[in-house]
Amino acid sequence: MLSEALGDGVEVTLIDKSDSFVFGYSKLDVMFGRAEPKAVRLPYRDIAKPGVRFVQETITAIDAEARRVSTDAAIHDADVLVVALGADYDLDATPGLAEGGNEFYSVAGAERLAEILPTFSSGRAVIGVCGAPFKCPPAPSEAALLLHDLFSSRGVRDQCEISFLMPLPSPVPPSPETSRALIDAFAERDIAFSPSKRISSLDAARGMVVLDDGDELPYDLFLGVPKHRAPDVVIESGLTDGTYVPVDPRTLETRFPGVYAIGDCAQIGVPKAGVFAEGAARVVARALIAEAGRGERPEGYDGRGSCYIEFGAGRVGRVDVDFFSGPSPTGTFQAPSAALVAEKEHFGASRRERWFAGRSA
Ligand SMILES: Cc1cc2nc3c(=O)[nH]c(=O)nc-3n(C[C@H](O)[C@H](O)[C@H](O)COP(=O)(O)OP(=O)(O)OC[C@H]3O[C@@H](n4cnc5c(N)ncnc54)[C@H](O)[C@@H]3O)c2cc1C
Repeated sequence: MLSEALGDGVEVTLIDKSDSFVFGYSKLDVMFGRAEPKAVRLPYRDIAKPGVRFVQETITAIDAEARRVSTDAAIHDADVLVVALGADYDLDATPGLAEGGNEFYSVAGAERLAEILPTFSSGRAVIGVCGAPFKCPPAPSEAALLLHDLFSSRGVRDQCEISFLMPLPSPVPPSPETSRALIDAFAERDIAFSPSKRISSLDAARGMVVLDDGDELPYDLFLGVPKHRAPDVVIESGLTDGTYVPVDPRTLETRFPGVYAIGDCAQIGVPKAGVFAEGAARVVARALIAEAGRGERPEGYDGRGSCYIEFGAGRVGRVDVDFFSGPSPTGTFQAPSAALVAEKEHFGASRRERWFAGRSA
């Protein structure tokens, strides 16, 4: 947006330690063998826009007061800093997870599971969310439904049990209708769903998931969502309140002038999902364009977003959530259909085009 509005009149430096972007939902595609890891990586070098420069460097310090970013290769001084470093996974916060379980929230974890799942033919598979908040609240539900499909297509479903534990009271709390549809889908597929469960550790030697109320659940294969936290470099910068970066939810401004935070590293009052990161980024971009004298100041961030939900059997549902309009968050549900499969595909393709091929979608 900055490039489109301001062209060479702006100098945008995009810093990422990784060479490529991967959509969150592509991790499920990799895990279930629906896509090769290579095919879902979108290289940042493809971002060729006037005024925009990508540097592949690791950020080692952020001085929010001075708006200065130090990396393993350089020091970058900025007039405006937009912190968008996401959330990291803290496997050690759940003892036993690293040794006795598998996580499916990173590309590497999804790749490992793509090798393990085809060899698992009998026993107890447990999908467990180890802490909240976590990215994309519907994703573990999707994993449970897709696991059912995978075992069914391999003819081993009768020999495999699937359980799903999460700390939230329902799969998608802002939308009871969506939660109901997911709970019905679990029941139809004999997936044992346990909400409001807190996992304290995995006892790999005994093959037990240990809950904080003392209960235990046996497992042969654990598919985990690790606890999340802001990256250390963000915590060390003093931008956080110990967890994530507090911001004005309407403007995404931090308490430091000229420093914004968006996406999973920020505490905005919306879920940690790409669609909200994108919406917040748009508000910041419009504010900066207005500051440059090229447009109206934006309305405050509206906290709205749509998430597509894989229900398995080739169908996708959709939930539209609204976090800021009313006194509490609301959501409306669109039942799974083949039409929504195409819509989800268009959602991804339009972003790929717009962000990576330099064309407007
Ligand atoms: C399985 C799964 C399914 C999902 N499905 C969906 C979905 O369907 N819809 C949806 O909207 N969201 C979904 N999400 C969530 C979505 O992926 C994230 O919420 C989104 O990517 C957050 O964007 P972000 O820019 O805040 O962080 P990220 O996308 O995580 O980007 C942060 C970037 O910062 C970089 N970085 C971190 N530390 C440093 C450092 N020290 N130096 C340099 N660079 C650094 C990282 O390399 C990374 O590229 C899903 C997530 C998962 C795991």
